[in-house]
Amino acid sequence: MSCLFCDIVEGKIPAQIVKKDDHVVVFRDIQPQAPTHVLVVPTKHISTINDLTGQDAAIIGKMVMAAQEVAVAEGIDESGYRMVLNCNKDGGQSVFHIHLHLLGGRTMQWPPG
Ligand code: AMP
Repeated sequence: MSCLFCDIVEGKIPAQIVKKDDHVVVFRDIQPQAPTHVLVVPTKHISTINDLTGQDAAIIGKMVMAAQEVAVAEGIDESGYRMVLNCNKDGGQSVFHIHLHLLGGRTMQWPPG
C-alpha cells in the first residue's frame, strides 16, 4: 500500500528536509501552523501510535531527540515549543505513518483545539 511519508523518506516525493539519518527524517510541514513546524518521521512504517510495540520504544526516543536537536537548530529551544503526536480520527491524524509535530516560534494556546 502506498504511503505519503514512506515516499518522502525514500525521496520519491520532494520535501524540505532539515535532518535525515538511518532512523528518522525531519521535514517542514506543507501547511505550517507556526513559524517553525516540522514533522519527525521514522524511516520504519508504523501506521498509528496504537501500532507501536515495546520493540519500537527506541524509535520514539530517536524521534524526540531529533526534535530536540532541530528545536536548537531553529532557535526555539529557549523560547519554547510543542511536540504533538496525533492518533486516529479524534486525535486529528490525517497521514497514517506516525509523525511527531514540532511547533514553535509563537506562543501556543491551551487547551488545544
Ligand atoms: P496529522 O494531521 O497529525 O496526521 O499531520 C499530518 C501533517 O502532514 C499535516 O500537518 C499536513 O500539513 C502535513 N503534510 C501533508 N502532506 C505533506 C507533504 N507532502 N509534505 C509535508 N507535510 C505534509
